[in-house]
Amino acid sequence: SHELRTPLTVLAGYLEAFLANAESLSPRWLRALQQMDAQTGRMNNLVNDLLLLSRLENENVQQEPQRINVNALLGQIRNEAIAVGLEKHHDITLECDATVSLMGLESNLRSAFSNLVTNAVKYTPAHGRIRIRWWADDKHAYFSVSDNGIGIDAHHIPRLTERFYRADAARSTATGGTGLGLAIVKHVLLQHHAHLDISSTPGKGSTFTCVFPAAIVVR
Ligand code: ADP
Repeated sequence: SHELRTPLTVLAGYLEAFLANAESLSPRWLRALQQMDAQTGRMNNLVNDLLLLSRLENENVQQEPQRINVNALLGQIRNEAIAVGLEKHHDITLECDATVSLMGLESNLRSAFSNLVTNAVKYTPAHGRIRIRWWADDKHAYFSVSDNGIGIDAHHIPRLTERFYRADAARSTATGGTGLGLAIVKHVLLQHHAHLDISSTPGKGSTFTCVFPAAIVVR
């Protein structure tokens, strides 16, 4: 982790210093440095996602599950989503059964839930609607994110959780995606004996639902 992160930290640091003196740079150099800065940011996201994936794959299940306050967690994730997509003015709602909580690994679940919400923000045009829900019945607990964004063609759906798989590479790169988000979601869910359901209609929107077994649900 240190070996991968340090060079990027150094690059990002110097780029920030150069860009802070933008007035002394010619337009040509300014453009070049801005692109270097954007690509360093992308590489940083990629390294973070790859490190998380490799940690998930190597993690032995010895970590103790904790009782997670899903209501509080989702409140934070919703606020982050509003901050990330500020200029898109999404209507982001949260419906949460606060009496339902979960035994699990909180930081991993935070990454999974946050990836799904961030995807909804990325793939939903301005003024779209994003609905985050958490509820349970006798057999399962459910976390779902619905959006009325661009949607996904049916033939892509079975492959979406593969590493680096993208339904639309150009659009995904433009939104700063790494192509690793749903692979991370899949691993975190496997770790919790849960699974991901995806339903989507191109041009209408998508719903991603994480389905957890009753065994780890606490009321
Ligand atoms: P990325 O970093 O490219 O977003 P992900 O693994 O998170 O990678 O998602 C894989 C692909 O699934 C994306 O590139 C995108 O094509 C598609 N996708 C994911 N979430 C959504 C969504 N809410 N609406 C439309 N397409 C989505």
